[in-house]
Amino acid sequence: MAYIVTENCIKCKLMDCVVVCPADCFYEGENMLVINPEECIDCGDCESECSVEAIVPDTEFDIDRFLKINAEYSSKWPNINRKGETADDADAWREKTGKIKYFSPKPGQSG
Ligand code: SF4
Repeated sequence: MAYIVTENCIKCKLMDCVVVCPADCFYEGENMLVINPEECIDCGDCESECSVEAIVPDTEFDIDRFLKINAEYSSKWPNINRKGETADDADAWREKTGKIKYFSPKPGQSG
């Protein structure tokens, strides 16, 4: 089992999770983070740090799409283990649903 980052992260990318991860397995995209499922040691520390509930175990129902995104982009994006600057409009995206259409494949630059 591993934990993965889901749609709720898109355009929020608060990055509180990266600070607590003992395995440094977060990777940063332009508008969301992902976890490398192979590197995650299943400690669960990041799940409770995320105030938008974006991090879930990969055993959750209907998670295949984001499991693929986490596995694919954790090999393409840079590692991040320090909290970077949050976007000015991050709070406005907290409650939004259907954010997958805003997913950006570009790498982030906070790391
Ligand atoms: Fe890191 Fe633990 Fe979260 Fe896995 S569950 S990403 S090891 S903090």
